[in-house]
Amino acid sequence: MSSKTTSPGICYLVGAGPGDPGLLTLKGKECIEAADVLVYDYLCNPEHLRYAKPGTERIYVGKKAGDHTLPQEEINKLIVKLTQEGKTVTRLKGGDPVLFGRGAEEAAELHEAGVKFEIVPGITSAIAGPAYAGIPVTHRSHASMLTIFTGHEDPTKSETSLDYAKLAQADGTKVFLMGVERIDAITGEFLKHGAKPETPVALVRWATHGCQQTLVGTLADIAAKVKAAGFKAPAVAVIGDVVTERDQLNWFEDRPLFGKKIVVTRTRQQAGVLSKKLAQLGAEVIELPTIRIEPAADQLEFGQLVQDCHTYDWIVFTSPNGVDAFFTMFDKLYNDARSIGGARIACVGPGTAEKVKARHLAVDLMPDKGNYVAEGLVKAFDQHQNMENVNVLWVRGAETREVIANGLTGMGAIVDEAIGYRTVAETEDNLEALAVLKNEGADMITFTSASTVEHFLNLKVPLPAGCKIASIGPITSAAIKEHGLKVDVEAKENSIPGLVAAVEKFWK
Ligand code: SAH
Repeated sequence: MSSKTTSPGICYLVGAGPGDPGLLTLKGKECIEAADVLVYDYLCNPEHLRYAKPGTERIYVGKKAGDHTLPQEEINKLIVKLTQEGKTVTRLKGGDPVLFGRGAEEAAELHEAGVKFEIVPGITSAIAGPAYAGIPVTHRSHASMLTIFTGHEDPTKSETSLDYAKLAQADGTKVFLMGVERIDAITGEFLKHGAKPETPVALVRWATHGCQQTLVGTLADIAAKVKAAGFKAPAVAVIGDVVTERDQLNWFEDRPLFGKKIVVTRTRQQAGVLSKKLAQLGAEVIELPTIRIEPAADQLEFGQLVQDCHTYDWIVFTSPNGVDAFFTMFDKLYNDARSIGGARIACVGPGTAEKVKARHLAVDLMPDKGNYVAEGLVKAFDQHQNMENVNVLWVRGAETREVIANGLTGMGAIVDEAIGYRTVAETEDNLEALAVLKNEGADMITFTSASTVEHFLNLKVPLPAGCKIASIGPITSAAIKEHGLKVDVEAKENSIPGLVAAVEKFWK
């Protein structure tokens, strides 16, 4: 047996779906997780790559029409070579790998070389694209047949393998990919061969992405509309009466924040919840982390305070980061959750409280609804009990305002401050997002703490023209105003859901 056939390598030819991060299959995700090398295309959403284990090699093989980063033969050779080296290779292709994806050619090369491969189908843009524009490709009243063809071949050239006479006469819906540049010639062929000029046509660009655009017309006028609008690839085109369903089924583009580009400035680790909520409402989210959380400089001192946590009457948390820092240290010191003793727990707001509750610990005190700031917590203590000689451990960041210490000490409490983390400028993880912001602008930027404001302004990136500013609450707003900027939206409830609700209301 040759060494090739005994090689333990395998190549997965995986459909990455049309773009929406949720439209990757579970099997596709498993293949990304298992990969030693990822080889991916222009149309594969790079967000999927985050499922890769650390250290996974990533090879971008490009391919925008007319701009081949690596010719197909080279891609074939590359995946064969990598697999022969005994690696687990995950080859990610936009949509489905064998629908106009040249997946079959790659599979044939792998077969020829005697290496193992598997094909993992994906959600194709040919069906998902129309669906996200509110157009079902089949419908009991309109179409019982679907034809998918490539618009890549020049219909006026004799070597085209497409028979436009048959296509134009065929029943049902027709979908074509790779055809925006040739829309004039394609619709011309349909009309020439007897298709009705008033047949509805829709083009869906960057389908299922936050920036999806849909253009609707007829066989007679869509080419002119494409030209007038400067509508460009990549787009999927649908021809047929099913397009009329869009009038009532256009769910994706009807979502409240659709078409809005919104910047999230939190740390990469914390951005997720806010980004997801905004994206669910239809926004195109740009994650531009301006800050990063690092452990406090003096871990020894922090560790000693955490070790003594059970000796306090109260432990006070004023940020989710504080909770994380505290329990990371706690877990290093103790193997028993009961080591926290009888200390009661106070939190500044629901986000912080969530983190505490995740440890199956109850939160004993929180400010009144809508007053989720340090001042609110001081007030809550004041109303709750006499603080004379009460021992408090306050877990905080290096840059946190002194409100808690001053307020509680003022009431007679004895406050120890455990500095668990510090906030530093993010310098590496936002370069791509910065380029997007500079080149394409944004409709809104969100700030979730005074430090995100400071660090964003330190980047010295001018705010795009017309970009609105949203703030999570009064402290953050004060930081924004201090720099001469206007706050367009301030959350009523100072929490992530509160911010999302305010942003949604603003764009209504
Ligand atoms: N295998 C892919 C198609 C690859 S051919 C699939 O199953 O979807 C490339 C063409 O697919 C593009 O020119 C465009 O016509 C279409 N396409 C892929 N992703 C798209 C998207 N998100 N929005 C619109 N068109 C898309």
